[in-house]
Amino acid sequence: MNKKRVVIVGGGAGGAIAANNLPTNEFDVVVVDKNAYHYYWPWLLYIAFKGSKRPIKKEIRELLRPKVSFIQSSVTTIDLNERRVVLEGGKALSYDYLIVATGSYPNYQLIGGHEKVAEKYGDYHSTEGRAWAVWNTINSLRRGTLAIVVGGDPYRCPPSPLEGVFLSEEFFRRRGLQDIVDIIFAVPYPRPYPAEPMNEVVEPILKERGIDYRTFFTLDRIDDERKVAVSMEGEELKYDALIVIPPHVGADIKYRPEDVLTPDRFVQADKFTNNIKGFDDAFVIGDASAVPVAKTGVTAHLQATVVAQRLQGIDARNTGRTNCPFDLGYGLGAFVISDYNHPVVKLPPSRFSHLAKMAFAAAYWDMVKYPELWNPIFDAYFEATEPEKLGRIYV
Ligand SMILES: Cc1cc2nc3c(=O)[nH]c(=O)nc-3n(C[C@H](O)[C@H](O)[C@H](O)COP(=O)(O)OP(=O)(O)OC[C@H]3O[C@@H](n4cnc5c(N)ncnc54)[C@H](O)[C@@H]3O)c2cc1C
Repeated sequence: MNKKRVVIVGGGAGGAIAANNLPTNEFDVVVVDKNAYHYYWPWLLYIAFKGSKRPIKKEIRELLRPKVSFIQSSVTTIDLNERRVVLEGGKALSYDYLIVATGSYPNYQLIGGHEKVAEKYGDYHSTEGRAWAVWNTINSLRRGTLAIVVGGDPYRCPPSPLEGVFLSEEFFRRRGLQDIVDIIFAVPYPRPYPAEPMNEVVEPILKERGIDYRTFFTLDRIDDERKVAVSMEGEELKYDALIVIPPHVGADIKYRPEDVLTPDRFVQADKFTNNIKGFDDAFVIGDASAVPVAKTGVTAHLQATVVAQRLQGIDARNTGRTNCPFDLGYGLGAFVISDYNHPVVKLPPSRFSHLAKMAFAAAYWDMVKYPELWNPIFDAYFEATEPEKLGRIYV
């Protein structure tokens, strides 16, 4: 049998899962990534606010099935018209099918002074080094105000800004500093969590724990000499330490045709099939896509399995399902669950949700590597927690 060649650009959550879900007797699968390592990004949160030393990366080669090829190289151009993926140095790979899974990245250029502040106080959406800088920041702050500010959309994992807020409040309270360290959370939205039902869960927790917040605060620039973050409207927010959730953009890759990209370099696609706009043989999954779903690993996972099924001739479709775990501090959690047809469920905080988040993290590498073991568990979990069903229970 003539095997079809599938080139997957990106060996992170979406790319590795897609590769391992494709039968290698039917497809020649090649994964290209500029890094040798696959990162479990959600753990940056626990480096930043818990000082966790748990390793967050594994070699991509080690995570892929033995018959999947891996090339470590940066991709510079994707020519969808000619079905070619151009690597750094000029070598090109041709494909029958293409899956783009190149993720999303902080853009420090949009907000004046952002890069310097990220270097100084750290952030937890970029690198391990910067997450450790956050840990140093909160450990050095003995009094004053820690500001956590959402710098703009989009960013990875919608609950992550508030997770940082809740975990830092827990950090200061456990050290007995809650009365001399204030936390202020600022967002450009009308409420602390953008989706109303989940906001109804988290806003009372903010109030209960004495955490101050500002809404409609669209961050424009930061003056670290005066220690103020300034909004577009000129409103000033004073801080002693500042952590900004950086707005993200897509990977720096040229596309032909160029108009498949949005101005933020996300790749436009059909929201049900993940086909890149105008191309039956090319797909984009995970954070790299411009489809209207949250940028989460769970989304990347679900899209990867849909695309793998479609390549095998099965008419699988994305439902837009999100299932983002939400750490509320003190061992409590929730999940942000929705799909294209159902709004976010008002899921109450529970220890079980927190446990599920931790269990998911513990099983992550295994889930990527052994889909035949984990897909049935994943499917059963997703069926049991469909937003349509939960929405009838939690109103
Ligand atoms: C603090 C934080 C908390 C999070 N919490 C959660 C959570 O609890 N649950 C959840 O589901 N998700 C969570 N996420 C989001 C999740 O990590 C991402 O959504 C997920 O990793 C996206 O997978 P991806 O495959 O699209 O991108 P990635 O996993 O980022 O992989 C992209 C890959 O593309 C490669 N690449 C990029 N450009 C090129 C190029 N030019 N050439 C070759 N290779 C390239 C990169 O090297 C990388 O390996 C969190 C993220 C953060 C930052």
